Amino acid sequence: MLDENYYVYKKEVDWSLLHEGVGIPVTIQVVFQHSINQFLSRGQSKNIYLVIEGKTYKAELKNQKFDERKYPNRTDIMQIRYNPQSDIAQKLRNIFSSSYQYILEQRNAIFDKQKKFINVPKEQKEYLAIYTTVYADTYLLDCITREDTIATKEQIAHEDEQEYETSINYGLMDSKATIETACQTTKIRKLSRAIGDNLKLLYDYRCQLCGQNISERYEVAVAESHHIDPFVESLNNNADNQIIICPNHHRIIHRANPVFYRGKLTFAYKNGVEERIVLDRHLSRHRTAGSMG
Ligand SMILES: [Zn+2]
Ligand SMILES: [Zn+2]
Repeated sequence: MLDENYYVYKKEVDWSLLHEGVGIPVTIQVVFQHSINQFLSRGQSKNIYLVIEGKTYKAELKNQKFDERKYPNRTDIMQIRYNPQSDIAQKLRNIFSSSYQYILEQRNAIFDKQKKFINVPKEQKEYLAIYTTVYADTYLLDCITREDTIATKEQIAHEDEQEYETSINYGLMDSKATIETACQTTKIRKLSRAIGDNLKLLYDYRCQLCGQNISERYEVAVAESHHIDPFVESLNNNADNQIIICPNHHRIIHRANPVFYRGKLTFAYKNGVEERIVLDRHLSRHRTAGSMG
């Protein structure tokens, strides 16, 4: 029933998510943006359903209105909203109890004005992964807890980065995982793959380094996601840690191991060759979208 799960958003768990909702900048979320255009116009809101661990919860989806003449370049912001006492908010506080406890303790120790800026430390962060379903008004939520991250980290610590990326890019699941860890790592693998697939759609399977879609001529779609900070070490599957490149460039990068300069969006190879990203629809943009929370 819920097999058409397209990527909508990965949200870090914060106070707002645990109480009132999530804001989603839609610019780089290809399938979600497409479906939302038919479902909700700017300024409109509708009741929606959120599925967590097989159970359905009610919430509201709002396409936030803003002055288009004043902010012509501003990205659409969708908001999933719920009441702090609603079943969904209570369920989220229950699942993400680690983040909830941390933020609660921090909030009690500081002044009002700073309360909204509390971030969970990097190694303790938890995430909500949001996907579409076959129903326009229903979304699937995967909760990635601290325990899930720890289990995944242990499992993939000694894996080869390129092999891991191949399994994500081509959808091969890990046969070495035990049954207990499989469920936890599957959520993270699924999210990594979903973010990569979304970026492939965003670039229409073109390589960000050479600008080519080498598979187009053969009427197939082949492009690969590469993690700037190796995933097996960083466990960072955020869009701003992924680039979409052709298999040739991917092989070369893993073999030659160039340094990536984020500010210049350039790979510097040991022999002096410098290669700049020629297509960028998400690396520089992502920085601004992220700051809107
Ligand atoms: Zn290329
Ligand atoms: Zn790679």
